[in-house]
Amino acid sequence: MKKHNFSAGPSILSPYTIKHTAEGILDLDQSGLSLMEISHRSKEFMAIMDETQQLFKDLLDIPSGYSVLLLQGGASLQFCMVPYNLLKTKAAYLDTGSWANKAVKEAKFFGEVEVVASSKESTYSYIPKGYAIPSDADYFHITTNNTIYGTEIKEDMDVPMHLVADMSSDIFSRPMDVSKYSLIYGGAQKNLAPAGVTFVIVKDEILGNMDRPIPTMLDYRTHIDKGSMFNTPPCVAIYAAMHTLHWYRDQGGVPAMYKMNMEKAGILYDEIDRSSIFTSNIEDENDRSIMNVSFVMKEEYKEKEADFLAYAIGRGMSGIKGHRSVGGFRASIYNAMPLSSVEELVETMKEFEQNL
Ligand SMILES: *Cc1c(COP(=O)(O)O)cnc(C)c1O
Repeated sequence: MKKHNFSAGPSILSPYTIKHTAEGILDLDQSGLSLMEISHRSKEFMAIMDETQQLFKDLLDIPSGYSVLLLQGGASLQFCMVPYNLLKTKAAYLDTGSWANKAVKEAKFFGEVEVVASSKESTYSYIPKGYAIPSDADYFHITTNNTIYGTEIKEDMDVPMHLVADMSSDIFSRPMDVSKYSLIYGGAQKNLAPAGVTFVIVKDEILGNMDRPIPTMLDYRTHIDKGSMFNTPPCVAIYAAMHTLHWYRDQGGVPAMYKMNMEKAGILYDEIDRSSIFTSNIEDENDRSIMNVSFVMKEEYKEKEADFLAYAIGRGMSGIKGHRSVGGFRASIYNAMPLSSVEELVETMKEFEQNL
């Protein structure tokens, strides 16, 4: 049976990405060699690296003066690299979930960290608003999409200091203004590629002002100077990312992705709001993520959650169990998720309600 893959990450990739990556693994462009066994310094791989970086720039309209880096270590290593390279005395962080919280923890190794606001006390069910950012902060760090809780900051903020964003789970999901950010990073395994590659989009001029010595591998300038080729890059994951970006381009780019994402999220939230048994755990509609749709059963139906989960699995729904810290359900509907799978999920929710 065909499965509908709602996994939060690693997560669904387009059939286009999987097919072309598999072909390259068997035989890269009729070279008689597998992508997995060629030198990262071969002209074939250098072209793949260049093209992937160029596609980032084209699809996100990245202004000149920014570099695109394809690194390893995941978003989690960026929690440390960001303050290593940017935190002189003080940084400001918005605490919107456990990833944001982990970023805070790492930043504290490097200086003073002010958490400007937190929604932790309500299991991160909203995005805090109306906070003040200390004007002497070296940068302000946000997590634009809170993968675990299903909340999202969908607008590019204007702040008077460097804006740094973890966009692991919403990069390429909506049109954005990169010029508002000084640094954007994320693990690629949510909306781009299999696990193993980490993207960083950094404004070059913000680097190099640090007094502390930075170990070579953790210094962004190393990777800018060497075009993300200082050491062996994760070739297979980068190759897959390139195909995903081709696919985005062929679909009409980020605006087309956004249109699809709004439609997918729209029908799912509409059903959650209509349903007599399900409800959203995100209070403010404006905070609802278009990538990770989190929902629960109403209090009076709580004991039916396990039944629904089993029913949904029986209908081919994979990965919809909510994160252990939230409970309930989470449908991750990343760019590669077809509308038809979301329609199937909605149908499954309706049928379960009717049969109750
Ligand atoms: C998945 C995720 C991470 C962790 O990414 P790793 O690549 O596993 O380190 C960090 N931030 C967000 C928002 C995520 O969704």
